[in-house]
Amino acid sequence: MLLGVIADDFTGATDIASMLAKNGMRTVQTVGVPQAGDPPAADAVVVALKSRTIPAAEAVAQSLAALDWLLAQGARQIVFKYCSTFDSTDEGNIGPVADALLDRLGGIAVVCPAFPANKRTIYRGYLFVGDVLLSESSMKDHPLTPMTDPSLVRVLARQVREPGSVGLVGHETVAQGAMAISTALAALARQGKRLAVVDAVADGDLRAIGAAIADAPLLTGGSGIAMGLPDNFRRLGLLEEAGAATLEVPEGRAAVLAGSCSAATRGQVAAVAAAWPTLRLDPLELAAGRQSAGGVVAWAAAQDPGRPVLIYSTAEPEAVRAAQDSLGRERAAAVLEEAFAAVAAGLVAGGVRRMVVAGGETAGAVVGGLGLDALTIGPEIDPGVPWVQATGGSGLCLALKSGNFGGEDFFAKAFVTLA
Ligand code: ADP
Repeated sequence: MLLGVIADDFTGATDIASMLAKNGMRTVQTVGVPQAGDPPAADAVVVALKSRTIPAAEAVAQSLAALDWLLAQGARQIVFKYCSTFDSTDEGNIGPVADALLDRLGGIAVVCPAFPANKRTIYRGYLFVGDVLLSESSMKDHPLTPMTDPSLVRVLARQVREPGSVGLVGHETVAQGAMAISTALAALARQGKRLAVVDAVADGDLRAIGAAIADAPLLTGGSGIAMGLPDNFRRLGLLEEAGAATLEVPEGRAAVLAGSCSAATRGQVAAVAAAWPTLRLDPLELAAGRQSAGGVVAWAAAQDPGRPVLIYSTAEPEAVRAAQDSLGRERAAAVLEEAFAAVAAGLVAGGVRRMVVAGGETAGAVVGGLGLDALTIGPEIDPGVPWVQATGGSGLCLALKSGNFGGEDFFAKAFVTLA
């Protein structure tokens, strides 16, 4: 293994894993810190934690466990991956985790969540989302991590052990390229800085930063910061030329499980519902025992194996509200998530080998229900959403999509991408 990544949530982990795979690294994503077993055969391993909003001490402990495991597997460089909108609070968790990782690894670490393709840019240390400052974007109203200060230097200074340990490398330096950036980082380190927010407004900036930090033991940022890293290993002769990530797709049936009710998924369900064998999961029917996972799996097995089956709970807001009024919001969600997890397991047991899952929580439930612990990253369907393949065992291929993601033809496009 060349590169180890510690990611603070699952979809963020997939995002950076896809970026690395696209740039020619064989990449595996693990679900939490692997307990045992053979180390994955990969150039980069992304450990997906769920540490974004848990208490800071727990986030630190989990991140250090991930670090120990990655170092034991031979990782030469570590990335701490968080969201490109720097999702955190004054209590953490980005600062405390970065401090703890630096205590182990030493050096000065860049802080660069910029991702220009997704309109996240940093200038003078201020984070922009599209045309507005972070603090003017919808992130100001986030239920768990409201971002009301756009200055990453200030936000981080409130989170770290020593407020004075955060510096800035401005765009006038970044624009001069890798040499200038590494010189500036070395100067900051001599001043006692441990973290350096680095401006980036374009992909070229991210590639220059990547080249400048080839020797840094730790770097931190969003998935954009990973863009330049594969080339560093290539220059050292440790990585072959970039080839497209491919998967060996086993023979088997195809299925779509849609548990998201967001607008994009509603359109995607409607786009294929008439063409593919389709079954609607109803939380009220499930709760009453009139629908069951076993029944759904038996229905799927009886369908034409030449077409994907679509199993969805996707519904319009009025129907969702009616189910929630009757069962309670949490119970409605729990009934469906349990059903999707059991249906997914039943489908795989019945020979499904390609499965698209729509909905972040739904995808989490399915990955849990299938007991998956590591996923090899394959070709991208749309930016940030790759096919992934369960390592070992069935060779099941999965596309895990957050609800609001993708165009109306996403489901059909996904299966074409894998073919
Ligand atoms: P998204 O990525 O769009 O947020 P999620 O899967 O994360 O999708 O969240 C959708 C939530 O809504 C899940 O907890 C799911 O179980 C629940 N849900 C799905 N369909 C219905 C429905 N018909 N009625 C009530 N809740 C639903």
